[in-house]
Amino acid sequence: MRVVLIERGEMGGECLNTGCVPSKALLAAAAQTAHAMRSAGGCGIEAVEPCVDFAAVHAHVHQVIAAIAPHDSVERFEGKGAHVIRAEARFVAPCVLMAGGQRIEARRVTIATGSAPVAPKIDGLDAVPYFTNESIFDNRTLPAHLLIIGAGPIGLEMAQAHRRLGSQVTVIERSKEPRA
Ligand SMILES: Cc1cc2nc3c(=O)[nH]c(=O)nc-3n(C[C@H](O)[C@H](O)[C@H](O)COP(=O)(O)OP(=O)(O)OC[C@H]3O[C@@H](n4cnc5c(N)ncnc54)[C@H](O)[C@@H]3O)c2cc1C
Repeated sequence: MRVVLIERGEMGGECLNTGCVPSKALLAAAAQTAHAMRSAGGCGIEAVEPCVDFAAVHAHVHQVIAAIAPHDSVERFEGKGAHVIRAEARFVAPCVLMAGGQRIEARRVTIATGSAPVAPKIDGLDAVPYFTNESIFDNRTLPAHLLIIGAGPIGLEMAQAHRRLGSQVTVIERSKEPRA
């Protein structure tokens, strides 16, 4: 089939840029290494307190993104025969889209536009600075104390990673029931 892929933001979407990849680079590579250094005792290797350069950890996370980016790149998909348009898509008629000044008519359209972080209604939140997944991986300074609202998998990943890298971490979860 002839395929047109339209992307208005970064190729690779959330997973590559602000989701799975940076979170696992932070968690698995950096934080796990720091934890392993601290807890090495017991297997004949002296445990040491790691000296964490958070700006360098940030650089590492972005190197991992950059290493994977070619797999999600325009060149790769164009090389496989898809036509890639880097622009915002909008419908102008059923099965007719406009993107980047191009008109695309297709029998089938897959909408895979993902999601964006939504700030929850929490009193006072609008008066304080806070991170979302779109900003936390751009942070170059280790937070002295990171407060995480929500103990889902992503909140707990960020809690573990930052704790292991040396932040004080507090997690707040309103539900008292364990998640299924
Ligand atoms: C911190 C974090 C860690 C995560 N870790 C994992 C993990 O370990 N494993 C896992 O499976 N999942 C993980 N996820 C979830 C995963 O990132 C998402 O489920 C996945 O990226 C969703 O993919 P998608 O293609 O549906 O949407 P997206 O990746 O959001 O892609 C949608 C794309 O559509 C584009 N778009 C939107 N509207 C338009 C328009 N009008 N015109 C053109 N383009 C448009 C956007 O720019 C975007 O790039 C994690 C998420 C976060 C935030």
